[in-house]
Amino acid sequence: KNISIALDGPAGAGKSTIAKIIANIKNLTYIDTGAMYRAIAFKILERGIHIEEEKKIQEILSRCKIDMDENDIFLDGKNITEDIRSPKVNNFVSHIAKIPHVRMKMVELQRNIASNKHVIMDGRDIGTYVMPNATYKFYLTASIEERATRRFTELKEKGIEITQKEVKDEIGNRDKIDMEREFAPLRKAEDAIEIDTTGKSIQKVVDEILYYLK
Ligand code: C5P
Repeated sequence: KNISIALDGPAGAGKSTIAKIIANIKNLTYIDTGAMYRAIAFKILERGIHIEEEKKIQEILSRCKIDMDENDIFLDGKNITEDIRSPKVNNFVSHIAKIPHVRMKMVELQRNIASNKHVIMDGRDIGTYVMPNATYKFYLTASIEERATRRFTELKEKGIEITQKEVKDEIGNRDKIDMEREFAPLRKAEDAIEIDTTGKSIQKVVDEILYYLK
């Protein structure tokens, strides 16, 4: 039987950093589901389509091709790994991720990728909806201050001009939209192990997860 690990939690909790390390140690395929929602949001923004233009969004969904490897994401063959991390996409992606059609398509893709591999998948609804029978489920949290500080540091390293307050507001807004949407909202699965990463080093969090994977 394939091993699957679901890793959920709010923005900036450290999911992708931790997932990549665990994937390496345990020889799993890492699947960044947030990147998939970001890719769709990026394309909709690029086309100048409005959130209410349902038909056009459906058309984009039915035509676009998303490919991912360990490090990069491609949309219709174009590498958009950097493009999907822009502040514009940050502010838009949760509005796109609310749309049930968008989610159904992404979930189908995610389940397909996971069907014949050992995976660690990070996102918002992995333990509750995408892989309810995952072998292991974790829910990563951290204080809003710490999550904002981590994101702010990342963005500054990339040379993106933004204030700490803007980052805090952005992730706070995104979490709110993600928690309040109707279809597959951000939630801890009942059987997920919750890990508060506030004040913990990456290594400490990795060690905690490895302890449970034994
Ligand atoms: O993980 P990341 O912060 O890149 O996710 C970007 C956004 O994509 C989230 O804020 C959320 O709106 C959406 N998302 C989602 N379900 C997932 C993964 C991400 O709705 N499984």
